[in-house]
Amino acid sequence: LLRSERVHKSYGRLEVLRGVDLTLDHGQVLCILGPSGSGKSTFLRCVNHLETINRGRLTVDGRLIGYKKVGTKLHQLPENEVCRQRADIGMVFQGFHLFPHYTALENIMAGPRLVQRRPRAECEKEARDLLDHVALADKADTYPSQLSGGQQQRVAIARALAMKPKLMMFDEPTSALDPELVGEVLDTMKRLARDGMSMVVVTHEVGFAREVADQVAFMADGVVVETGPPSQVIDDPVEERTRMFLSKVL
Ligand code: ATP
Ligand code: MG
Repeated sequence: LLRSERVHKSYGRLEVLRGVDLTLDHGQVLCILGPSGSGKSTFLRCVNHLETINRGRLTVDGRLIGYKKVGTKLHQLPENEVCRQRADIGMVFQGFHLFPHYTALENIMAGPRLVQRRPRAECEKEARDLLDHVALADKADTYPSQLSGGQQQRVAIARALAMKPKLMMFDEPTSALDPELVGEVLDTMKRLARDGMSMVVVTHEVGFAREVADQVAFMADGVVVETGPPSQVIDDPVEERTRMFLSKVL
């Protein structure tokens, strides 16, 4: 579903991604671990077209992200095609970024209504089902400011799901939450994984990665240092840098 080959990204002279190789199959969960500044968020931003890459190849479902091939040359995609590709990818950030003047239900309906321009009744039914799915059926008419952080994050997850993405990406979805609220968000993500959603999760929750991930990638200095099943990367890492990092976070 997702394939990253030798992906490079620089900001000016700062080379943030220095050849990232990763693949994710349909229905699988990839957890990315790594120290601050290693390029994890930048990588997700490249997958989601928020950044263009300088070198390498990035495909989602076989389609090149951000570029198209014309003859032998690569051309940057026009904005409307970028939007269409982006719609296949749901993104959940550390901060919840809900629309403050919309209720939970309206937040979830906004994408399907305004971007996909689908009929109201249909969108509302799906939004209520999604709220139920994230265990917030009783909060449909509540505004974000009256929800806890964990509840807001679950609305943000439901909102991303409303666009029916092929791939969900999470960038440290629980690190802004009070400790007692982390569990409910992780539980929602576990359910999503069990239902077969393809997911890339940047997280410091090693326990979650061990339990849910099919594949764990450890990133440092803009490259994937080590990748494999959690039983290998987390419990029996080969690389010294992985071991050092895990000894600090475990
Ligand atoms: P963290 O765990 O702290 O979230 P990260 O692994 O997500 O870290 P990135 O946010 O991808 O790291 O940042 C990687 C490097 O790229 C950092 O050195 C950062 O300062 C730099 N960087 C990120 N975005 C930009 C930008 N828009 N312009 C310039 N430099 C940037
Ligand atoms: Mg980050």
